[in-house]
Amino acid sequence: MTSRNQALFERAQRTIPGGVNSPVRAFRSVGGTPRFIDRAEGARVWDADGKCYIDYVGSWGPAITGHAHPAIIEAVREAALKGLSFGAPTESEVEMAELICEMLPSVEMVRLVSSGTEATMSAIRLARGFTGRDAIIKFEGCYHGHADSLLVKAGSGLLTFGNPSSGGVPEDFAKHTIVLDFNDLEQIEAVFKARGDEIAAIIVEPMAGNMNLIKPNPGFLEGLRRICTEYGTVLIFDEVMTGFRVGPQGVQGLFGITPDLTTLGKVIGGGMPVGAFGGRRDIMEKIAPLGSVYQAGTLSGSPVAVAAGMVSLRLTREAGFYDRLGASTTALVSGLSAAARDAGVVFSADSVGGMFGVYFSDAVPTSFKDVMKSDTEAFNRFFHAMLDEGHYFAPSAFEAGFVSAAHGEAEIAATVAAARRIFASWR
Ligand code: PMP
Repeated sequence: MTSRNQALFERAQRTIPGGVNSPVRAFRSVGGTPRFIDRAEGARVWDADGKCYIDYVGSWGPAITGHAHPAIIEAVREAALKGLSFGAPTESEVEMAELICEMLPSVEMVRLVSSGTEATMSAIRLARGFTGRDAIIKFEGCYHGHADSLLVKAGSGLLTFGNPSSGGVPEDFAKHTIVLDFNDLEQIEAVFKARGDEIAAIIVEPMAGNMNLIKPNPGFLEGLRRICTEYGTVLIFDEVMTGFRVGPQGVQGLFGITPDLTTLGKVIGGGMPVGAFGGRRDIMEKIAPLGSVYQAGTLSGSPVAVAAGMVSLRLTREAGFYDRLGASTTALVSGLSAAARDAGVVFSADSVGGMFGVYFSDAVPTSFKDVMKSDTEAFNRFFHAMLDEGHYFAPSAFEAGFVSAAHGEAEIAATVAAARRIFASWR
């Protein structure tokens, strides 16, 4: 087959490691040829062969308003005409900081960066600087970007490739990262009893989205809050994925929990490179130039990226936005579940706001171990069959999926109908 996707993939592999600039894009675990995307609009993407797909990746989360939303494109155009980057403060980044602080009550001060990785890396450094402690706790299967301390038993691409810890991370760094089990509060309490006064931070995806979607058990997040308060440990909610995705105030809003620091990305950039970390004023004041913890960025607060992000955030504030988004996502997962049930396929699914998980297992998982038991062969068959029919899901059994405001009833119905045909053919 000499499709343009295939030709581009072969060409890409000559100059780009694995042919991709981020590993999961390479289709390694599902096999086959990655689709090179030529353009996107609303709920759809078109590949290099001109084939159209209904898209459930949404650029891995940012595209909550649908691709190429006209208001976002217009804001980018207007900002670009005034210059791309100044390396000096701008009014627009002040507005963005004010908007984030207004939308997330736990955030009293915020700093903008250019990616989720920078946000989490900086938040960890800040927590260490603030507490004067070195150790951090993360949970197996949670992914927080690719900073050294956080690439220990991580999720996302590391799970996809079955290699949850990265080469190139010195043991001297990794030893400060204590990896525990998501949803196991007793284990955490035991660790804190033994060495609570050494632990600078707990960083958690409060709804894990990098080992597929796993929700916190009742009391888990509340327990983390209580323990962190008791031991003077900084509680970091990594809401790079869930922020403004699961609801207007992220997971912290759904559960009414106030983390000390929050990391953001994806939706707040509306498709452009923006990340942020923010939270308690007394902690944020430890960042340079006010404090001793250094953090900086040539392109931080890029006026073009901020322009896109502002519109993305404003669109999510329109009346009924999350009601509609949640209804579309629920319709998708209940449609897929019914299709599987009718065909006798072992399958379950779950969702929150505009985020969903599909699992080839008989019950929705609540732990990393549960997720690892799901049938990845069945997922791969599903993935490819759906792709052939024009429905683009994340190319890994360990990633959450995303629905946008541009996914209407017609798109969801088409995807459910395709799944129904595919599951029926498996009988
Ligand atoms: N934290 C979480 C929860 C994420 O899902 C991601 C990316 N998927 C990151 C951090 C890293 O963000 P980025 O890829 O923008 O560096």
